[in-house]
Amino acid sequence: NEQDVPEAIQDGKANNKKSKTAAAPTFADLNLDSRLVQAINSEKFATPTPVQTKAIPLALAGQDVLARAKTGSGKTLAYLLPLLHAILARHASDGKKVARTTALILVPTKELATQVTGALKTFTAFCAGGIRFENISRKEDPAVTKARLAEKPDVVVATPGQASKWLDQEALQVDGLRHLVIDEADLVLNYGYEDDLQTLSTALPPGVQKIMTSATLRTEIDTLTALFFPDAAKPAILDLSA
Ligand code: ADP
Ligand code: MG
Repeated sequence: NEQDVPEAIQDGKANNKKSKTAAAPTFADLNLDSRLVQAINSEKFATPTPVQTKAIPLALAGQDVLARAKTGSGKTLAYLLPLLHAILARHASDGKKVARTTALILVPTKELATQVTGALKTFTAFCAGGIRFENISRKEDPAVTKARLAEKPDVVVATPGQASKWLDQEALQVDGLRHLVIDEADLVLNYGYEDDLQTLSTALPPGVQKIMTSATLRTEIDTLTALFFPDAAKPAILDLSA
């Protein structure tokens, strides 16, 4: 995975002669799809937060990222924007011919699944229905969940328990997966989902990008590394918790 961090973010604006400190990065510096920028503008978000500034270029470059930053620091968009950008880019190149679930977002609770799904709705609002997503952690008739998964939504949001259950029943297909996100990874482990993560990790095709976020990560890093980074490539670790 090549690292391709835009210069503006590494060094600040080259023509900013006023000070030696880097200029505050803007969303424009991140080179995101214009439909995502429209959504960002409609939310009136002026600048990316520090974790977004650091994580988005790495994620766009295809890197695995483990980001630690405090609650409320904007971690959702730090993974969601690069994820949506990658999906839009693939849709543009394959003409959306094949419906395929390419992203799985794992969260510790149903409540967080609802929140993340809300963010998906907001930030795909200008994609003209081009990105399909499903939250499968809601309480509903299993036949309904199964039917929603059968549509092969681009993005599935779930607790690891639901994801591994539907994987076992062959309703959730992970063979086309390109991105795996584990949001609040420490809670996911502390809520007893390690076995489900194990099931999911062994089912992943090679080359899936992994992005994990958390407010706190201590010993959990070792468990996540053993599960998802057993050999060579290790994730970029961003620590903005200070
Ligand atoms: P975390 O997951 O780190 O706890 P969230 O991703 O839930 O944080 O974001 C916290 C709040 O900040 C949300 O209401 C979100 O919409 C808002 N937010 C995220 N990014 C930005 C930004 N760049 N500018 C302004 N507000 C933002
Ligand atoms: Mg969060």
